[in-house]
Amino acid sequence: MQQRVLLSIGSNLSDRIKNCRNAIERLNRTEDVRVVRCSSFYETSPWGRKAQPDFVNCAVELLTGLSPWQMLGLVKSIEKELGRTEGERWSPRPIDLDIILWEDKIIDHEKLKVPHPLMQKRRFVLVPLAEIAPDWIDPLTGKTIRELLKACKDTEKTRKVSNP
Ligand code: ADP
Ligand code: MG
Repeated sequence: MQQRVLLSIGSNLSDRIKNCRNAIERLNRTEDVRVVRCSSFYETSPWGRKAQPDFVNCAVELLTGLSPWQMLGLVKSIEKELGRTEGERWSPRPIDLDIILWEDKIIDHEKLKVPHPLMQKRRFVLVPLAEIAPDWIDPLTGKTIRELLKACKDTEKTRKVSNP
């Protein structure tokens, strides 16, 4: 059964847009994964730890027959292939792939939380998501992404830097 999934992708090292595009291409090349929509690319100041380069972020919608745990394994292997090393939390990274929403599923495990717990606090996640899936309902709050973005108190500016 094909399920609809939203991922958030970010990079703040070397060629950030290229890193994101490479990750999207790898997702799409994976059997049983199809990228059906991709947002524009946005630049944002780093969240959490400020003393690091600006991020580029985008969002993609996938159709997949993989399970959420298989998808977590896939995103981790793509992160590794694209040069991600284990570092401190919120430190500079060539690529970060987060599972944001999975149909209307709620997963609450130490190693996998869906909807992504910080989604509604971060403009850099919500802005690209709102471009491709404004009406998707967050099963935890019952609110759409458009509504979450409107209510988001994050003041960090998000600038569009490239089309999809
Ligand atoms: P962050 O994305 O918060 O900067 P990492 O990318 O280093 O941090 O991820 C740390 C861990 O978060 C991963 O090893 C993974 O097991 C866990 N995790 C929990 N929920 C999710 C999710 N929805 N998507 C991706 N990783 C998740
Ligand atoms: Mg991550």
